Amino acid sequence: MSVARAGKAVCPYCGVGCVLTSTVEGNAVKRIRADPADAPNFGMMCPKGALAGEVFSDPDRLTRPLIRREKGGPLEPATWEQAIVRVADALAEAPADRVAWYGSGQLDTEASYAFTKLFKGLLGCNHTDTNSRLCMSSAVAGYTQAFGSDGPPGCYADIEEADTFLILGANMAANHPVLFNRVRRRRVVEPDARIVVVDPRRTRTAAHADHHLAVAPGGDVPLLRFLARALVDAGEIDAAAFAAATDGGAAWLDRLAAEDPDDLARRSGVPRAQLDAAAETLFGGRKLMSLYCMGANQSAQGTLKNRELIHLSLLLGQLGRPGCGPFSLTGQPNAMGGREVGYLAHQLPGYRLVAESADREAMERFWGTVRGSISPEPGRAAVEMFKAAAAGATDVLWVACTNPVASLPDAERTREALRRTPLVVVQDVTAASETVAYADVVLPACQWGEKAGTMTNSERLVVRSDRFLEAPGACRPDWWIVASVGHAIEERRGDAAGRFAWASHEDVWDEFRRTTTGRPCDLAGMTNERLRAGPLQWPCPDPGHPGTARRYAGGRVLTASSKPRTAGETQETAARSAAICDAADAAFPLVLTTGRVASQWHSRTKTRHVAVLDAQEGGPFFEVHPDDAAAAGVTHGDRAAVVGRRGRAEATVRVSDEARPGCVFSPFHWADSAGPLANVNQLTSDAVDPASQQPELKACAVRIEKV
Ligand code: SF4
Repeated sequence: MSVARAGKAVCPYCGVGCVLTSTVEGNAVKRIRADPADAPNFGMMCPKGALAGEVFSDPDRLTRPLIRREKGGPLEPATWEQAIVRVADALAEAPADRVAWYGSGQLDTEASYAFTKLFKGLLGCNHTDTNSRLCMSSAVAGYTQAFGSDGPPGCYADIEEADTFLILGANMAANHPVLFNRVRRRRVVEPDARIVVVDPRRTRTAAHADHHLAVAPGGDVPLLRFLARALVDAGEIDAAAFAAATDGGAAWLDRLAAEDPDDLARRSGVPRAQLDAAAETLFGGRKLMSLYCMGANQSAQGTLKNRELIHLSLLLGQLGRPGCGPFSLTGQPNAMGGREVGYLAHQLPGYRLVAESADREAMERFWGTVRGSISPEPGRAAVEMFKAAAAGATDVLWVACTNPVASLPDAERTREALRRTPLVVVQDVTAASETVAYADVVLPACQWGEKAGTMTNSERLVVRSDRFLEAPGACRPDWWIVASVGHAIEERRGDAAGRFAWASHEDVWDEFRRTTTGRPCDLAGMTNERLRAGPLQWPCPDPGHPGTARRYAGGRVLTASSKPRTAGETQETAARSAAICDAADAAFPLVLTTGRVASQWHSRTKTRHVAVLDAQEGGPFFEVHPDDAAAAGVTHGDRAAVVGRRGRAEATVRVSDEARPGCVFSPFHWADSAGPLANVNQLTSDAVDPASQQPELKACAVRIEKV
């Protein structure tokens, strides 16, 4: 009889980053629980986490490398050596600007670092980007512009000290449920705590709000400026102190004073009386914690929305104080860790930038590559990467741990990019990803529990996961796959540097943490030994450092002048000129906004095999207001098409007064394999925020047609 044992790992789903304890017998997970002693969830988990053991019986599991000998031919079994040689040869032979890597905020930090080193260090190619671009890049740009560094100022423990929660563009009850439990618990403990939710839909989160502001798509910036203006008009801020404490603060206040509150209310789409009532919850020295996610970020104004949220905390003088501050929620378990390793197209490890010569030289020295080998040009961000591939500009595209056919905007162009690229490499755990169908080489990877590695959650908490299961077949850890390709390329070049000669994930971590020494995200003190003992929050600069719960204590930040910077006039003017890029008109009178539901995860590559979860929603749907349903001639339960400028998608109609009139909501989880025209990203817009390059997935013009 096999003896039960326990293994701890970060939940493979959302950015809360819950630590789950699995009871394992033989090579099977028997039970999952959350240990009350484990940060950050302290005994809590949601149904997705509790059922995460079911993903190990995925019938579509990839278990061996596959190679297509020619485009259009069948995928055939191959050895690891054959697969690695095929990928390494293609990468080595292609010009550096004709290769690209598209990864994921679900890869662990070790794999993310290995990919960054392979492409930016060894190949001299900055065309590396990930699905974090679809999720978090406006938060990155917002923090960086305001404070000189990415990364949130505060931590989850601020929830237990806050007086007012401003939750904007985040359905936390569905998508960050454990963290939302803490918000709800705060209100039980502190009856004066208040919740303001800004969301076009009356979501499960909004149902708990004291004030639900059903903002119009594109109305967030005027709404936030209304709140800022209300603070100023009520005499709740010391304008002179704000101007002195910020770069550009006086000019920003002048521009705010020139705004007409009635005009701001009109542009927000929320009645003035509701805004006035919500604004009062900010008054009286209350501690404000703003929590925000995709609704803020997935917009051509995403960076400015982040800046306006940050401005509220700066106006209140609450930066770096317990219970206060702007807090961006990450969508995926390691979106933060990927930013630390510098995998986005403009970054290098340790929050360095490819555009900065000192940063490039530091990494060239560290990696032992030739001076000048790192390109000074930022690479192509996600949308641009697939546009270029669709135009024939890419020879090799390596996709890892993500399903761009389902998740990128304008799905037909994504398919064209994959059809047109001579060699598409897909590294994943399951053939349930629609992207696998386009692969010329398939690399089977280990999933959670089958590998050890490190992830950073939304609050900068770095957690080491155990390996407690044998991986099936020939599956390998992601870092091992990348290292094998890197080693093969070095051998091919006669380069004996051995940059990828890591013996374990701990070797990769040890190398990566040293790249962060002296950087804003300093993890140098997080040795393997310490992470084996428990999680730590960065900055953690030396092995004796306890980690840092709150940054910018005392309001001191990292810009050259040590002052937070306010948003500039140019950004604000641009936001005023186009609230939504693909705006409604007579032909397409409604606005489609996409999102997620509690029981599914992204493109369902995991949750489609968890029967209890998959049964909950019953399939793709469009949620519409009764007035819009009547105008379109559809009723609850009808099959209907939503048609936009780029395509159409079909699903079941849900008529609900939870929808804002003029808006259609649809989750993006169901893609091509769920049936013809199930993929709502057939319709979404590829317009991007100019600062963050994040696409405006949250708003595009559509009409409803009966089918
Ligand atoms: Fe997993 Fe997120 Fe649920 Fe926690 S809240 S168990 S991280 S899905």
